[in-house]
Amino acid sequence: MISQEALVAAGAAFSLIVMVGGVAVALGMEALAPRRVRSGPRLWRWINNLGLAAVNEGLLYAVAPFAVAVAMSMTGGQNIGLLPRLGVSSLTAFVATVLCLEFAGYWIHRLFHAVPVLWRIHAVHHADVDVDATTAHRHHPLEPLIVTALLMPVVLLLGPAPTITLFYGFLRTSIAAFSHANLRLSEALEQALGWVVVTPDFHRVHHSAVRPFTDSNFSNTVPLFDHLFGTARSWSDAQQTSMRLGLEYWRDPVDSRIDRLLVAPLAYSSRFGRDRVN
Ligand SMILES: [Zn+2]
Repeated sequence: MISQEALVAAGAAFSLIVMVGGVAVALGMEALAPRRVRSGPRLWRWINNLGLAAVNEGLLYAVAPFAVAVAMSMTGGQNIGLLPRLGVSSLTAFVATVLCLEFAGYWIHRLFHAVPVLWRIHAVHHADVDVDATTAHRHHPLEPLIVTALLMPVVLLLGPAPTITLFYGFLRTSIAAFSHANLRLSEALEQALGWVVVTPDFHRVHHSAVRPFTDSNFSNTVPLFDHLFGTARSWSDAQQTSMRLGLEYWRDPVDSRIDRLLVAPLAYSSRFGRDRVN
């Protein structure tokens, strides 16, 4: 029997490997088949985006044992979830976990767009003017903390095996690197994959500088809930290469320096005047 501590340590180590590996593979694919011409040098963006990723990963190491301890104290160390009571197979438990966490993740993402104080935090992710695999990990540290706190009750109510939760996390991390990649897939592959996973063309619409497009395509890993709730939008081939990405009011490279990104939610109003202008 693996101890909780060992599982948390192994999960954190694997998450780092999946994160670095996912970004490296996606960047390799981008180099072979880029979708768009970059608007600026990438080294500056990479340093700041990956610096933020390192801060978030360090936070994960620090917070994960605390989150597990809170969950254990809330449940008395017992699995109170629905899935073990139903006695379903591992595959059914995995599919149910993916669908429930994607459903919750979809609405949490919409919340980050709809609530001004949450948008200030999430805007750090959207302010990247060139979207590539490193953008997947450009999040203000408060965002993964809030998302984890909101997803934790769902995991406790479901009660999947820890390995299933970890595997979902790895899947989500890998798809995030892929869906943010500046990558051109063949039309046939884009269409085939688009039924089951969030593709680069699908997610790029969400990074548009035009708000109606920004407020669409919220799904993280599978696009199902955008189609169910009417928020799926698509771009033509010409739009995919020409539409501006990022935020119109946040384009100065100095505002994407890591220290500025870390204080951005607090400095937001004074620097940018108002929350959303497009
Ligand atoms: Zn968003």
